[in-house]
Amino acid sequence: MIDITREIKVFLGDNRGRFPFCNCLMIDDEIKAVIDTGAGMPFTTAGFNPDVVLLSHYHPDHTRDAAALSRPLYCHPADIPPLEKEEVLLEYTSFEELGGEQARLILDFLKYRPLAVAGGFADGDLLDLGRTRLRVLHTPGHSPGHCCFFEEREGILFSADIDLTSFGPWYGHNSCDLDAFEASIKRVMELKPAVIISGHADPIREGREEALRAYLEKIAERDRVLLDFLREPATLDQVTDQRFMYGKHPEPVFLYRHFERKMVKQHLDRLYTRGQVQVGKGVYRRLGKGRSFFKRGKIKQDCPPLCRNSITGG
Ligand SMILES: [Zn+2]
Repeated sequence: MIDITREIKVFLGDNRGRFPFCNCLMIDDEIKAVIDTGAGMPFTTAGFNPDVVLLSHYHPDHTRDAAALSRPLYCHPADIPPLEKEEVLLEYTSFEELGGEQARLILDFLKYRPLAVAGGFADGDLLDLGRTRLRVLHTPGHSPGHCCFFEEREGILFSADIDLTSFGPWYGHNSCDLDAFEASIKRVMELKPAVIISGHADPIREGREEALRAYLEKIAERDRVLLDFLREPATLDQVTDQRFMYGKHPEPVFLYRHFERKMVKQHLDRLYTRGQVQVGKGVYRRLGKGRSFFKRGKIKQDCPPLCRNSITGG
C-alpha cells in the first residue's frame, strides 16, 4: 500500500497490479470508498471496509471480487450493461467471437461475475466523500464508459486504464474506440496532474508530462509501423501474425492473439477512414508512397520495439 495523502492510499494489486489484476484506490474519509476491486486480495487485509465502490470501467480485471464486497457499486452508465449481464460482456469484449468454450475459459480466468449496479455518475460530477472530493472525468476509448477521478485540490489523478504502462494504450475489444482514447489522453494531459495513479503501473510523481506524451505517441507509432508493413498487401490475419502490438503472446495465447487482432483492426479501420490504406477482399495495402524499414523475411529483427516490456490485456 502507498499513502498519497492522509485519506488517499493506493492498494497495489497482485503482481504489482499487472493484468489480470489492477491497482485500486482507497479513500479513508467520512464516506469510505474504493475505486476498482481487482487487486486480487481483499481490502480487509489493509483493515479497510468501504461504504461504496466506484468502478472506473467494466473490465473484469478491475471488478473481480466486487461481488464479494457486497457494497453499493457505481459506474458510468455506458459501462453498466456489461457489468450486469454476461451476454452483454461477451459482446462488449468481443469474446463471443471466440466461441462458447474459449469464452468460458476467459471468463473463468478473469473470475467474471455479473454485478448489480446501484447507480451511475457522469462527466463533471463531484463525488463528495468528506475532506476528499473527486471530480469524475468521462474518458472513453478504452471502454465506452471509462472514467478517471481527479482530486483537484492536490492534483491527484486516478487514471485507471489510461495506465501509462510501457505497453502503451490498450484497445483490444470491439467496444474500444481508438480516436476517443487519443482524445481522452489529451484531456488528461491538460489537467497537468501532480500525481498520476493508474490501474496497472506504479504511481508517477516525476516526469508525468513525458510519461503521458510517450504513452500517447505509442498510438501514432503503431500507425506508422502498420502503414510501413502494408507497402505490400496483407490480410488482417497476416498483420496479426507479426505481433506488432505485443511482441510475443503469453498464455493463454489464443486470448492475446485475439487482443492483438482487435487492436490491429482498430488501426486499419482508421487508416482506411483517413484514406491511408485501401482494402479489397480482406486484403489491406498502403496508399501513397513511403520509405520502408522492413524487408520481407526479416520482419521480426527489424520490427521497432513497440512493446517489449510489459504485457497487458485490458
Ligand atoms: Zn481495462
